[in-house]
Amino acid sequence: MKLTKNQLERYSRQIILKKIGIVGQKKICKSSVLIVGAGGLGSPISIYLAAIGIGKIGIIDKDKVEISNLSRQIIFTTSDLKKDKSVSAINKLKKINPSIDLKSYNKSITSKNINLVAKDYNIIIDGSDNFRTRFLINDYCLKNKKILISGAISRFEGQVYTFNFHKKKSPCLRCFIPDMPSRDQDIDNCEFEGILGTLGGIIGTIQANEVIKEILQIGESLCGNVLIIDGLKLTFRKVKLNKRSDCFCNE
Ligand SMILES: [Zn+2]
Repeated sequence: MKLTKNQLERYSRQIILKKIGIVGQKKICKSSVLIVGAGGLGSPISIYLAAIGIGKIGIIDKDKVEISNLSRQIIFTTSDLKKDKSVSAINKLKKINPSIDLKSYNKSITSKNINLVAKDYNIIIDGSDNFRTRFLINDYCLKNKKILISGAISRFEGQVYTFNFHKKKSPCLRCFIPDMPSRDQDIDNCEFEGILGTLGGIIGTIQANEVIKEILQIGESLCGNVLIIDGLKLTFRKVKLNKRSDCFCNE
């Protein structure tokens, strides 16, 4: 693969970084990322990943844009109301970077379609809003040895997890949350507890940053830790997340 003159210019400010260079940019251009959920997290994640030059980006979401989304889902504008989120988001990304491969999936991710949808992607980003989806993605990534970068936001707080299942030592989401919360607790936090719009930007941007670190294998991987951010106290805590000996990821 050879970078074109246009790509060399477009990505020049990151190519100039010693830890990236032309070799690193080519790795970025050859990478593929599936984003689950085009919401408060999916918006900044997808905008940054398209701008940075990820070669192939997929977005899966079944919802349509609602007016209550616009306070935080910054990829959408008022003129997108009632349109399919996945399609509208992909159309925005095309404008940001026309040279990358983009695909929208206007559906929910389920145990029936996850194999077909996710098989073409090396990295999966979870920006979903319920535990059923979170566990489904965790189990799929574990089984198929994909890198999973998960984020969660509620009120003024957020968390980021990186699970690199190429590494034997990587814990999984079930190490941290052994039992799936009951149906009553499995609700959309943004709707019931509220969310400050900027939190999605903070957490989603860190998730996009984790994608680049994992692709390039630079810096300190977050794998084995959870990052907990309090947007009001402005504290960033990295808490060790050990592999649980009786978790099914040990089987
Ligand atoms: Zn586990």
